[in-house]
Amino acid sequence: MLIVMKPDAVESDIEKVVEAIEELNLNAQVLLEKTRATIVVLGNLDGIEKARFVHLPKVSEIIKLTKTYRLSTRDYKSDNTIVKIGDATIGGDELTIIAGVCSVENHEQLFTVAETVKKSGAKLFRGGAFKPRTSPYAFQGLGERGLQMLAEVRAEFDLKIVTEAMDEHGVDLVEKYGDVIQIGARNMQNFSLLKRVGKSNLPVLLKRGFAATLDDLLSSAEYILSEGNENVILCERGIRTFANHARNTLDLSIVPALQKISNLPIIVDPSHGTGKTFMVAPMAKAAVAVGANGVIVEIHPNPERALSDGSQALTPAQYLEMVAQLDTVFKAVQSPKSQVQG
Ligand code: PEP
Ligand code: MN
Repeated sequence: MLIVMKPDAVESDIEKVVEAIEELNLNAQVLLEKTRATIVVLGNLDGIEKARFVHLPKVSEIIKLTKTYRLSTRDYKSDNTIVKIGDATIGGDELTIIAGVCSVENHEQLFTVAETVKKSGAKLFRGGAFKPRTSPYAFQGLGERGLQMLAEVRAEFDLKIVTEAMDEHGVDLVEKYGDVIQIGARNMQNFSLLKRVGKSNLPVLLKRGFAATLDDLLSSAEYILSEGNENVILCERGIRTFANHARNTLDLSIVPALQKISNLPIIVDPSHGTGKTFMVAPMAKAAVAVGANGVIVEIHPNPERALSDGSQALTPAQYLEMVAQLDTVFKAVQSPKSQVQG
């Protein structure tokens, strides 16, 4: 439920509404926008009627939200959420490129890729130290040592680090060494992990699960937002379908679908979304063309030797060529500015 206040509502009017909400053992979150104040009611609203609030002073309108998510909606907050990470922003006017390695393997691999990413002008570096692998026998990542190496990249190249946490202990470590916590596709509905990152001060990159609908994705984002962390970045990384020409089916239609109803930024992962190097640049360009806020991609100096995901890795040269193309596509679609229509 959303309670929209009249433009002339003052602080004491808002307080009265908040008190009425809290009397019902529910929580209120107030958003002050330029033209209006909106109060979203958080908690289980079964049996709670609009009538309870409608007569309170300066209440303009009460909107019943029928979905399982509230804070990520444009009904609640019409402006785009812009996530700031150092001097990088995601969700604003710039195209965000997050690039790096699939897994941190060794110093040479990591620093070669970091040098390339820095050269491209990207500000965010990805790299996994805790790897969610299908087989327990596959390379699982270097763990804390890998995070320490990522922290060295951060210091040496002035890049911000995006890295995955697979459990709550992993979140503690990412908070120590990283800048953005990635929640992988396999953990999109790990609700205790989502609640934990909701309490973090770091932004969260939330990847769409293999079989998750748009509503499932936004409901997972709500777990993070409702714990107080406003900095959630959504990521489309492909879903499972019957199609087998690619590792996953990259669902680019979710980008405008999300932008229409959600205020959260959305980036696209064409590396995991296709699983094949030759498809990465074409699908990255398509992602930018449909209005994604950015892309996240994997690079390896020697893909055939990679310990994970070599078949989808770009070489440094392929990556730099792709970035130049993305820039052209971005400029072409940038104006007129608003891409969220109808
Ligand atoms: C990754 O980005 O390293 C990864 C494992 O991706 P996903 O969770 O989308 O499979
Ligand atoms: Mn990978």
